[in-house]
Amino acid sequence: MMSTVQTSASGTLGSESAASKTGIANSSDLLRRTLALMSRHAAGYSPDSYALWYEYVLGSKPALRAEIDALVNNCERLSMQVTFDLHQKHLSERAEDSVRRAGAGLLEVMSTMRSSMEAASSDANVFDAQLAAFGENLSSVSSAEDLTLRVDTMRSDVDRMNKSMNTLNARLEASHRTVASLQNELKRAREEASLDPLTGILNRRGFDLELARHCRESSDTATSLCLVMVDIDHFKKINDTFGHPFGDKVIRAVGQAMSQLTQRKDVAARYGGEEFVLLLPETSAIEAREVAERIRRAISRGQIKCNGVEPVGNITISAGVAEFARGEDPTSLTARADRALYASKQAGRNRVTIDR
Ligand code: GH3
Ligand code: MG
Ligand code: MG
Repeated sequence: MMSTVQTSASGTLGSESAASKTGIANSSDLLRRTLALMSRHAAGYSPDSYALWYEYVLGSKPALRAEIDALVNNCERLSMQVTFDLHQKHLSERAEDSVRRAGAGLLEVMSTMRSSMEAASSDANVFDAQLAAFGENLSSVSSAEDLTLRVDTMRSDVDRMNKSMNTLNARLEASHRTVASLQNELKRAREEASLDPLTGILNRRGFDLELARHCRESSDTATSLCLVMVDIDHFKKINDTFGHPFGDKVIRAVGQAMSQLTQRKDVAARYGGEEFVLLLPETSAIEAREVAERIRRAISRGQIKCNGVEPVGNITISAGVAEFARGEDPTSLTARADRALYASKQAGRNRVTIDR
């Protein structure tokens, strides 16, 4: 009886922990190497960069690997454009799918770990049952020597079982911590890919995802939705007169006004350069114009200082508002807001126009 318990317990524990350890080691190593490579190149933590370096580390596409190796040998740091081109050429699947796949891989590791925990605890239960049987069979003991022998064997088996459980638990806990920290890194990488580093608000990529989602929701629930497109007036002149760093300061101030003067449910983003967008759910065109006016007034009254001395006046924005028509394509909504913005520019700037 004793030898059966021992074999089944240590056999199960051994193979479970080995299998889960191999899986965890592979996934963590893959992610760690991917993240390290991403940080070294110009595209940073963007989804394209993630997909590219993930496949590179995985090594499943020899042509991709050879091309990257040749490029890295020549110039060391890959530019955003080269990263994008390589992605287009070698990886037809979307970057989001790749990130999702890595996330799913991590979940799989966690689920393997959970089953080893369960297996270990079921082994403990079996062991417990054997212990009970051992107690019941004590009546068949023939002599004091026989009893002492059985108890000693049992004690050493209990010790072994204990040690084995403790080791397994410690390994599982360590793996759990590794996986959790990798998941955090992955989450941060995904979030960073959607944020504009200068203003801290969403970038074009993050905004496009929000726009698609809000258009779908607004169509489904028949609630109003407005898009406001904002552009800083004569920004080239601001840069030329006061310098690029001051231009950046103005961009940050506009980004701040966009997020501070709107509500939580609203989405503010830097669309590119000195252009911003605002998505206002459950908002009519008239209300959206009010919001845009509030931002426009705040900026035109603003006192942004150049080099901490004289505040620079006359910084203004123009805006265009378009209200979502149920079932409309997001691209068409964007084009209409852009058209209204153009009308504001044509009419003399520093104003808000609604697309009719
Ligand atoms: P308009 O009133 O018609 O919009 O005129 P504008 O000068 O603002 O428009 P234009 O498109 O001619 O110039 C935009 C300028 O914005 C050109 C570009 O150098 C500058 N710019 C784009 N991105 C940045 C940035 O991140 N920082 C700074 N400082 N300038 C930027
Ligand atoms: Mg512009
Ligand atoms: Mg402009």
